[in-house]
Amino acid sequence: MSSFQNKIIIITAPSGAGKTSITRYLLNKYPQLAFSISAATRSKRDYETDGVDYYFLTAEDFKQKIQQGEFVEWEMVYEGKYYGTLKAELQRIWDNHQCPLLDIDVKGAIHVQQQYPDTSLTIFIEPPSVAELKRRLESRGTETAESLQARVNKASYEISFKDHFNKNIINDNLEKACAEADEIVREFLGL
Ligand code: 5GP
Repeated sequence: MSSFQNKIIIITAPSGAGKTSITRYLLNKYPQLAFSISAATRSKRDYETDGVDYYFLTAEDFKQKIQQGEFVEWEMVYEGKYYGTLKAELQRIWDNHQCPLLDIDVKGAIHVQQQYPDTSLTIFIEPPSVAELKRRLESRGTETAESLQARVNKASYEISFKDHFNKNIINDNLEKACAEADEIVREFLGL
C-alpha cells in the first residue's frame, strides 16, 4: 500500500485568488502529487483538454453519477453548472502511489475535509482584497460581465469561511504564497 493512501491535499479559494497558479507550482515541484481531475458540466474553454483539466460531462451523465454514489463531493458551483470529485479519481491517484491535489470550491473543500478529517490538509488561499480579485478576473478575460459579477459576489461569501481550514495563505505576492504552500505541503507529506 502506498504511504499516501487516503492522504488528500485540498487547495481552495475564491475564483481568481491564485489557487490555480499555486496548484501548478506544487504539481511541477512534487512528483508525489497528482492533480485530481474533477468532473464538470460547464463548457470546455479553448485551452482546456477533456480528461486533463476536467472530465467534461453532460448534466444528465453527471446526475446519473450522483445517483450511483460516485462522488466524494459535488456542488453546483455556478448557476446550473455542476462540479465534483469522483471517488474513482482519488483511488486512481492513490493506486499510482501519489497524493491527490484538489483545486475545488470552498463548500466542496469542507465536504472532503469532513470525510477525511485525519488524512486531509486544507489550504485556503485568500486574495488581498475583493477589489483586487475583481481586477485579476477582469484581466484574465475569461468571464462575461454577468459571470464576473457572480464570481465576485461568491468570493465575498467564500472568504467568510476562511477559518474552517487547516492553513490560510494570503496571496498578495505569488512567489511568497508559493513558498508558504511549499513548506506546508512538504511537512504534510513528510518529505
Ligand atoms: P472554473 O470554472 O473556473 O474551472 O472553476 C470554477 C470553480 O469550481 C473553481 O473555484 C474550482 O476550484 C471549482 N471546482 C473545480 N472542480 C471542483 C470540484 O470537483 N468540486 C467543487 N466543489 N468545486 C470544484
